[in-house]
Amino acid sequence: MSAVTTATVRPKGRAGVAYSPDRVTGTDTRRRVLGLRSSSSRFWNERIETMPRERLAALQLQRLRALVDYAYHYSPFYRERFDRIGLRPEHIRTLDDFKQKVPITDKNDFLALQPTAPPYGPTLAIPQEFVAQHGETSGTTGVPLAIPFSMYDTIRYGESWVYGYWAIGIRPSDSFYFAYSWGLFMGFWSAYWGVRRLGCRVISGGGRDTRGHVETILRLKPTVVICTPSYALRIASVAAEMGVDLRNSSVRFTYHAGEPGPTALPALRKQIEEAWGAVAGENYGIAEIDALGMSCTEGDGVHINEMNTFTWAMDPATGKEVAEGEVGENIVTSVANTSQVLLNYRSHDLVRLRLSCPCGRTWAKLDGTVLGRTDHMVTLRGTNVYPTAVQNVLAATPGVSSFYELVLTRGQGGDVMTVRFEPVAEVPEAERDALGHALGERIRSALGVRLEVEPLAPGALPRYDAKSRRVVDRRPNEVRRELERRGPGET
Ligand SMILES: [Zn+2]
Repeated sequence: MSAVTTATVRPKGRAGVAYSPDRVTGTDTRRRVLGLRSSSSRFWNERIETMPRERLAALQLQRLRALVDYAYHYSPFYRERFDRIGLRPEHIRTLDDFKQKVPITDKNDFLALQPTAPPYGPTLAIPQEFVAQHGETSGTTGVPLAIPFSMYDTIRYGESWVYGYWAIGIRPSDSFYFAYSWGLFMGFWSAYWGVRRLGCRVISGGGRDTRGHVETILRLKPTVVICTPSYALRIASVAAEMGVDLRNSSVRFTYHAGEPGPTALPALRKQIEEAWGAVAGENYGIAEIDALGMSCTEGDGVHINEMNTFTWAMDPATGKEVAEGEVGENIVTSVANTSQVLLNYRSHDLVRLRLSCPCGRTWAKLDGTVLGRTDHMVTLRGTNVYPTAVQNVLAATPGVSSFYELVLTRGQGGDVMTVRFEPVAEVPEAERDALGHALGERIRSALGVRLEVEPLAPGALPRYDAKSRRVVDRRPNEVRRELERRGPGET
């Protein structure tokens, strides 16, 4: 019998010193194996965030092949689709095979099937009793897509947020204030799963109005506030009305999702950072996929979390992959979602993928994050106009408030985009039209097109606590359906 007893094993470190990963000594290997990282590290997981592209590609192929095999055997939806075209999991031998042979899927495929076996339909790949959380897409029109999550999915999904939190400097000692309600909005839930993974204190502000948020932030002193970008500006403006300058508050970071935010709109980032005296970060998420894009500290855009998601950019007109740096539709596959597998899923988001960034991450980067929805990009007199490009001009124009909408209509000569905006309260009524004219000139010089501009009285547009509706599509339904089916490149 061994003479070693538990009494001879003593904990390391001094008694009375609180545990902290930074105080754990040891080799890099030990740190890596135990999943520990130094607070001064720029990366949440340096080894995989900086993995050489060839190794990353090999790893992705291995995981995609396993996922295809899993989908074929556990999801009746994929079994039927693969059998219909004679595709077997073993036919996928390269990443190009995956992109070209695995059928492209779309939200409408899943929506059409869900009523046949509610709530999830034949796409559910796990027994329903293993669904740990039910989510839904937050589209403003139509029937929402039901999204099942297993416990495993929630952990993987949550960690996607942590990479971005960490990249901009948020650490476990920070505390998060959620200016969200507890609803079906997955942006909020997944952000929360991420905060739990990072180990920060959570303060849920659900159920309060905007003044209540300001009062609670002042009372409980969180260091991070998480909300939609437009709502961050609204909180700041309500705080100003209350005589509170948030730049003097405890908040050092703001973090956003749900709408084009600080990584897509530099002028908006400047507004948020100046109003809060904080660093603003963002995650690009697709509710049914993942929080797939994370903030980086170098320039604009987000990195794709290539540990959880495989993406490529497709020319919607031809179905072929576009070259690096060209605009295409983001086609996404989550390798972390086991409940409702989504292979080669159309995001309808237009992106520009690049494979290098000065921050040192090798993960693909989306320049400017999402340039617009495939069905919201309009071609005006031969020029492609992305809604985010117009939003950038709006945010950079003095006197223009954060309340505006871009209205799409169909005129005689094709699509028309009208910018309806509220000036800030300080602009006298007599000067509104002049401001509208100046804004129109800025848009023309930045984008090379002339848009209709309509100044409104302050308070004319609706206020949103969660997602704002920035693009209002008033084109006939048949035009929209056709654009969604074809993509913008085809006429
Ligand atoms: Zn970067």
